[in-house]
Amino acid sequence: MKLNGKVAIVTGASSGMGHAISLLFAQEGATVIAVARRLERLEELKNQVKADKFAGKIIPLKGDVSSRQDIENMIDFAASECGKLDILVNNAGIMDNFELAEDVPDDVWESVLNVNLTAPFVAIRKAIPLMKKNENGGTILNIASVGGLFGGKAGAAYTVSKHGAIGLTRNVGYTYCDEKIRCNAICPGAIATEIGSHIHANPRGQAKAADGMKTMHGGAGAPEDIANAALFLVSDDSKFITGTTLIVDGGWTSC
Ligand code: NAP
Repeated sequence: MKLNGKVAIVTGASSGMGHAISLLFAQEGATVIAVARRLERLEELKNQVKADKFAGKIIPLKGDVSSRQDIENMIDFAASECGKLDILVNNAGIMDNFELAEDVPDDVWESVLNVNLTAPFVAIRKAIPLMKKNENGGTILNIASVGGLFGGKAGAAYTVSKHGAIGLTRNVGYTYCDEKIRCNAICPGAIATEIGSHIHANPRGQAKAADGMKTMHGGAGAPEDIANAALFLVSDDSKFITGTTLIVDGGWTSC
């Protein structure tokens, strides 16, 4: 097992990639503090891990990452309940509606930047002092997007938020390498999850993004494809990798 005895926080654990990452980490022996707003889903996850007799366990924690207080509580919870924090996965995220810059309403800009960029920053700021107490430091993983590397994969707000998350990843990876705290990002391509189910797509923006998807082949990936990459990036298998991004997109951006 690759994560035996490790304590991990995974945000956005109630569906999609966060759910798959939490399951795999628990299977690999970690204690996973699973954070999201829908507590009932986190309880189901906990029961699934118990029923499957995984070596690790899930501790459900209700939290809204758009609240700084909830994020700080989540890190304090790891310290008080588990005595340490080894792994932080900033996965919770929301899409915009593919709005072009001239069409982005203030509330969309603020909520997308808040959840996708400010929340990972606040979590990292609070987690680092705790990770510094570990003999072997810690690992931080941000779930960014191919929209954080290119301009034509999403609307303006989402694109900016994920570019920011990659900048944060590079800065933290570089500045804490001497303290054994690694920080990397995964840039998923299209993955079949619930993320698009609540949006009201802007037709012009969606058509622009669809143009950019013409080069996609092989269809959408599965949340488990991201979980496997996440396990690699938080485990010692990647101990010389920090401050960088791993694209997991089935080849979409390679051509
Ligand atoms: P998903 O199925 O919609 O899951 C999103 C998760 O984030 C849910 O567990 C949701 O939980 C949580 N979340 C959203 N807002 C939150 C908030 N304010 N506080 C706490 N939790 C919140 O989406 P997904 O596709 O797995 O997305 C995971 C990450 O991958 C995101 O960062 C997304 O931007 C990124 N990504 C996705 C794709 C894709 O094609 N799916 C591609 C590239 C990148 P609750 O609603 O229960 O709070």
